[in-house]
Amino acid sequence: MKRETILVIGANGQIGTALLPRLQEAFGFNHVIAADLRHPKQEQGRFELLDATKIDELATLVQRNRVTQIYHLAAVLSAKGETDPLWAWNLNMQTLLNVLEVSRQQGVKKLFAPSSIAVFGEQAPKLETPQTTALDPATVYGISKVAAENWSLYYHKRYGLDIRSLRYPGVISYQSMPGGGTTDYAVAIFHEAVQGNSYDCFLAADTLLPMIYMDDALRATLELMEAPADQISVRTSYNLAGMSFTPAELTASIQTYFPHFITNYKPDFRQGIADSWPKTIDDSVARQDWGWKPAYNLPRMTEEMISQLSAIYQPLVQTH
Ligand code: NAD
Repeated sequence: MKRETILVIGANGQIGTALLPRLQEAFGFNHVIAADLRHPKQEQGRFELLDATKIDELATLVQRNRVTQIYHLAAVLSAKGETDPLWAWNLNMQTLLNVLEVSRQQGVKKLFAPSSIAVFGEQAPKLETPQTTALDPATVYGISKVAAENWSLYYHKRYGLDIRSLRYPGVISYQSMPGGGTTDYAVAIFHEAVQGNSYDCFLAADTLLPMIYMDDALRATLELMEAPADQISVRTSYNLAGMSFTPAELTASIQTYFPHFITNYKPDFRQGIADSWPKTIDDSVARQDWGWKPAYNLPRMTEEMISQLSAIYQPLVQTH
């Protein structure tokens, strides 16, 4: 087992909750420290309260625990960010710059700071969006991710920091609810379906968006972090694809299990964000550099989401 101490910042969120057990398995239970603004609903091991906008708090935590790797997951996501743009910008940038600076000062060996398909805007091709293209995002979240990608490249070139990143598509998982993104519908819809309810979707039926099942997102993250440094040609952030589908296609996939399930379409401001994003992603550079290949398509993801959420909701449904 590798002698590393891993710090996960923003560990209570959608990705952190699912990533923690994987890191504990890979590096040892006591070698992974979860950190977030508040205590988690269920503690998953070592935990520290941390406001990552405060550089002194972060520096003390990293120094005291001799942290060797950081997974920086704290962020305000796309839809939530639009409700208060300057707050979102400040939080996303301040936390990233603090993580970069503390890592440089204290010799943290490896860093992961994810980006998003939200870096793309009107000028980028919508189909098979390439690794390198115009980045003119429509949201403050996207603007902060473009800046973060460039700061990451800067710290790599100037200080030799081994920072790695993926442009995640919408991540679909059963472990916890998503944190205010534009693809959240693709998780919420399953929770309603397994409880026998209909679903009011905030995107139009034909909105094609790139998505990835959590299992694939985590495997991509760990494979990227394990890859030899000389195989990493992209130090901004790698395009990453899992699958692409519309709300209508997802509804049809769910109906193979629940034939009476209905989705009502009530698009809101998030439609505009979705329309500015890619529909499908070209991730050939990730495939070439470190062998990325997704394992989940729409039917396989639907099957697993329904089986996992049914196990969670069934006991609750039966006691009512
Ligand atoms: P989330 O919103 O579910 O979780 C973020 C966590 O960060 C929360 O638990 C929050 O309490 C914590 N946090 C916020 N401010 C903090 C601070 N100042 N100090 C410490 N913790 C703080 O987000 P997520 O979905 O888990 O996303 C993780 C990362 O992946 C983010 O960078 C996000 O932009 C990126 N991403 C996620 C998706 C997705 O679909 N979930 C898609 C693309 C990119």
